[in-house]
Amino acid sequence: MPQDKIWLSSPHLSGNEFKYVQEAFDTNWVAPLGPNVNAFEDELASYVGTAHAAALSSGTAALHLALVMLGVGPGDLVLCQSFTFAASANPIMYQGATPVFIDSEPTTWNICPDALKTALEKYTAREQKPKAVIGVHLYGMPARLDEVLAVCAKYGVPFIEDAAEALGSSYRGQKLGSFGSLSVLSFNGNKIITTSGGGALLSNDEALINQARFLATQARDSAPHYQHSQIGYNYRLSNVCAGIGRGQLEVLDERVAQRRSNYDYYTQVLSDLPGVTFQQEPADSFSNRWLSCITIDPASSGGITWETVRLRLEEENIESRPLWKPMHLQPVFQSAPYWGGRVAEGLFEQGLCLPSGSNLTDHDRSRIAEIIRTLFK
Ligand SMILES: *Cc1c(COP(=O)(O)O)cnc(C)c1O
Repeated sequence: MPQDKIWLSSPHLSGNEFKYVQEAFDTNWVAPLGPNVNAFEDELASYVGTAHAAALSSGTAALHLALVMLGVGPGDLVLCQSFTFAASANPIMYQGATPVFIDSEPTTWNICPDALKTALEKYTAREQKPKAVIGVHLYGMPARLDEVLAVCAKYGVPFIEDAAEALGSSYRGQKLGSFGSLSVLSFNGNKIITTSGGGALLSNDEALINQARFLATQARDSAPHYQHSQIGYNYRLSNVCAGIGRGQLEVLDERVAQRRSNYDYYTQVLSDLPGVTFQQEPADSFSNRWLSCITIDPASSGGITWETVRLRLEEENIESRPLWKPMHLQPVFQSAPYWGGRVAEGLFEQGLCLPSGSNLTDHDRSRIAEIIRTLFK
């Protein structure tokens, strides 16, 4: 009998989700608006520390609306971290704009401030000033925000913060999701908390968040009949799903502690393996450790690669996953410009995400560690 499947990152409910969902049913608020949506938005904004939040149907929808509101259109350039999930970059294409990919720096694995500066300098000199910069906090690790925000400010380009993986993380004591002109969260099933599917757009600018709600509800002008002066979207979060989110938000800090404890465990039992290194947390940063990630250098590990480990874990019914394949290496983005060196490529060549759910048991974790240690013997 194979043992139970261990997932990379699966939903972990608290019990209270159902209370809020039940309320939605009892009051017949089964619609993409309602009391759970309003409360979830307030609770999110207050947790993250922004003035406003709009609950949306996905993180991708939030990124798309951010670009729409910044006026990104055909022919515009948008600079975007290359080392990320495709959802960071796809909305640039929805707008008919051109993505320009930027390498990562080796400490946090996020957007490299130097490569970003070079690109902004060159495009500005050519009078092709980019419309926005999209930076990501991969696996929950805060980007080098001081440097990145300073570069964006210098060139007057708004920063869109893709904090989809980073709810609960902070930088210099301030929660991620509060650093962008517009910031994005995701509540997909595999994220640190989930609404089954959903996302949010956050900002201190009330006008922008009101506009996001308007665009996300089919851009209906205020008139008794249906009148439209702009193109709208159907991007609002369901009141049922928002109920799940409210229950999840109550246990977010516990989930962060559980994920951080996974990371601590893995570093304790795997750090001595030759060629194995972990994603590091700088002193000014606090990561939610959404996923615990390692790199394996086959030159030091005796030829063992991330794929050796992944396949061995798979045989034991355990899911692990390579690090994101950089966007500038993706077939669909092959003609997009790229600035930087080989940091993102190197991480992709050597990296693996270990099972990291907040619901992993001690037994699960020791099983995983034992399998990996045995491989290295
Ligand atoms: C999950 C994710 C998204 C997209 O969020 P969805 O809610 O799945 O649309 C965007 N960016 C990053 C970095 C993500 O991990």
